[in-house]
Amino acid sequence: MLLGLDGVHVEHVERRDGLLVVTVSTPASPTGCPGCGVLVTSRGRRLRVLHDVPGVTRVRVVWRQRMWRCGESGCPRKTFVEQVPSLVAPRGSITKRAVAWAIGQLRREHATIQGLARQLGTSWKTVWRAVEPELVKLAADESRFENVTSLGVDEHVWHHVDPRRRGPKELTGMVDLTRDSQGKTRARLLDLVPGRSGKAYATWLGERGDAFRKQVKVAALDPFAGYKTAIDDKLDDAVAVLDAFHVVKLGTAAVDEVRRRVQQDTLGHRGRKGDPLYGVQTILRAGAENLTEKQRVRLTAAMEADPAHDEVFVAWQCAQQLRSAYHQGDLAAGRRIAEQVVDTFHTCPIPEIARLGRTLRRWRDAFLAYFTTGRSSNGGTEAVNGIIELHRRLARGYRNRHNYRLRMLLAAGGLTP
Ligand SMILES: [Zn+2]
Repeated sequence: MLLGLDGVHVEHVERRDGLLVVTVSTPASPTGCPGCGVLVTSRGRRLRVLHDVPGVTRVRVVWRQRMWRCGESGCPRKTFVEQVPSLVAPRGSITKRAVAWAIGQLRREHATIQGLARQLGTSWKTVWRAVEPELVKLAADESRFENVTSLGVDEHVWHHVDPRRRGPKELTGMVDLTRDSQGKTRARLLDLVPGRSGKAYATWLGERGDAFRKQVKVAALDPFAGYKTAIDDKLDDAVAVLDAFHVVKLGTAAVDEVRRRVQQDTLGHRGRKGDPLYGVQTILRAGAENLTEKQRVRLTAAMEADPAHDEVFVAWQCAQQLRSAYHQGDLAAGRRIAEQVVDTFHTCPIPEIARLGRTLRRWRDAFLAYFTTGRSSNGGTEAVNGIIELHRRLARGYRNRHNYRLRMLLAAGGLTP
């Protein structure tokens, strides 16, 4: 622990009040004035107490910092203190290596600023003041956008207070979905921008530069027209792919709507305990292949309880057909099912399924692109959303969007090239 304090030597180590106190200083050497270059004379030392990486106990580094005076008449510098950038930032109170340690803890160990402050024996503000400029530097480094060939986009709500006080509730997040050499996606959050709109996405893409935009070959998205426009306008070489998860969800939502409508038509009230359709609502949302024998029996009984329930059953079968396109081992077979869905659903007499069919027809190319881009999906953005949610809870929420962005980028891999 005592090693690795670059640029200074250790004069003295002692234990005091449960602290490990390490006194350090720089070796003597002739020093020139930064103003005029003339050799300066010593004005003695002052003690700077720095927080260092804690071990079994907290560690304080006492730096006997040299002070100098320039004797040159007319030089504007007069007095100054020595700086050792490898030890600590000019006005910092946390050692350089403790700042690096803190960032590592935030990045990998789900640490909070408050927790780090406790370990270092200082305040939230002091820790954040030391960490924040380092994160800003990392976030401004455009090399973290290199080699992104697959890009996802998603939005989330980051606060629930008055937007006049804290700005838009939604943030749009850009996620790197590029696969590694083993074909695995390691989703990284690349950025967060305020608002939920195609414009926010398009502006961000515009800021990235040509090299970045040319490199993106696959752009995954939810069925939101704004994002599609942004991709079409800004990413000439990219194929837009509608996210499988969201497509399946559209199917499930349509079944839900049919069930509620038929429920209302047949019994004149919303579903409640004892109603045949109410009892199977979760079964209707599951994949047919995951149903137990008992669930199948219940489903059949509910469907046969009233001839009007046929509509629900047909809608369910449609949703299952849509779902099965994604569950084929063979992508060509999946695509054939998907094409069939696009070609038939819009003619379905059940209005909810017909509407789903029209939506899928509108998104035809992006819907079918899933099967020609090796199952590209926006799924990695869900993983990133999980990390964001966890860290928002750990910090008990955020009031400041700038801090929120930096912390989420760090936790979700965006600051690691
Ligand atoms: Zn001088």
